[in-house]
Amino acid sequence: MRKVSVFGATGSIGESTFDLLMGQGGAEAYDVVALSGGRNVARLAEQARALKADIAVTAFDDCLPALREALAGSGVQAASGAQALIEAAHRPADWIMSGIVGAAGLAPGFAALSQGTTLALANKESLVTAGPLLMAEARAHGATILPVDSEHSAIFQGLVGEEIGAVERVIITASGGAFRDWPLDRLAQATVAEASSHPNWNMGQRITIDSASMFNKALEVIEAKEFFGFAPEQIEVLVHPQSIVHSIVGFRDGALMAHLGVPDMRHAIGYALNWPERQALPVARLDLVAIGSLEFRAPDTERFPALRLAREVMATGGLSGTVFNAAKEIALDLFIAGRIGFLQMAALVEAVLEDTSKGQGLGIAAVDLDMVLDCDAEARARAKAISEQGRI
Ligand code: NAD
Ligand code: MG
Repeated sequence: MRKVSVFGATGSIGESTFDLLMGQGGAEAYDVVALSGGRNVARLAEQARALKADIAVTAFDDCLPALREALAGSGVQAASGAQALIEAAHRPADWIMSGIVGAAGLAPGFAALSQGTTLALANKESLVTAGPLLMAEARAHGATILPVDSEHSAIFQGLVGEEIGAVERVIITASGGAFRDWPLDRLAQATVAEASSHPNWNMGQRITIDSASMFNKALEVIEAKEFFGFAPEQIEVLVHPQSIVHSIVGFRDGALMAHLGVPDMRHAIGYALNWPERQALPVARLDLVAIGSLEFRAPDTERFPALRLAREVMATGGLSGTVFNAAKEIALDLFIAGRIGFLQMAALVEAVLEDTSKGQGLGIAAVDLDMVLDCDAEARARAKAISEQGRI
């Protein structure tokens, strides 16, 4: 039986993964090693019981007593904290879902790669924060990384049987998020509730708000550079409001290969779970006649500066992705807490990048994970300080 672990099992990606595992035979078909979650220990315990996991890990120590209680009599071990997550990721498994949100997913992802596993990577922040190190870790241990972000899964599928050298460009599609058609003055007043509802995808709150600000697309452009090794100028963004075309690969003969499907993450997760085979998946089938026509338009970097910042990050390289992601995570925390406005998120990230470039230099490449984590912590502190000083 294939051994599998799911990190971030209680989140949006995690629930879709759980659903697919249950649908493909559950504990009868998979030897489930570790599941992880956060504060929702009741749900984590329920999943661990259903899949007969060896261990369930909550990220937070104060949640451990409740997790223990919820698992009483199940035979599932309980553990908590960042170190326990890393230890769980070291437990041998053939397939591991990296579905934690934010840079918190980085260390467990590294630990998983070090055992030469197949890592289904939803956690795009790890590639933005530490792309070259993560890819090198995979190579060093003979591990495989399969992209789960829908756009990157689409590109990955478009490349099957092709030579990477034959690729001229990739076109990453963007729904445009909740505020696609909002004018700039209205964006300034956008509330957390308004930003937390996506027109097409049902996702966790953080990525949903990142979609509204286009920071999600900014992360994805950098993710494409780090994962596939494309040059920045090969990566284009196209607004496609319906989220039917998940991305497009353009080849040197001018051909474009597009990946189409309904907006349901179980496709990309299921593809990674069954790779290199394709299995039947419980996703709705597209009715192109009902859809009738597909719309495309250019992205607007005036209203959504995140895309411009992503270009700057790719041009600078080195630790700039680490700083960009960390500052973005703090900006998002502050927006959710009602401390800064919607447009101030991009202003804060830009200010942190500018301040950092005056110091030790953003272009220096990280030599190890500790250097990345130090830089991440510094950028977070800097973002908080800039916001407290009222500089944005
Ligand atoms: P989510 O908020 O729904 O779930 C996040 C999971 O991580 C939960 O299990 C939560 O308990 C856990 N978690 C939160 N903070 C943690 C911490 N500090 N340490 C350890 N675990 C923690 O998020 P999501 O929408 O499922 O997104 C997960 C990842 O997948 C993100 O990187 C996101 O960008 C990426 N992604 C998500 C979607 C989607 O459809 N939701 C699509 C593409 C990519
Ligand atoms: Mg995506």
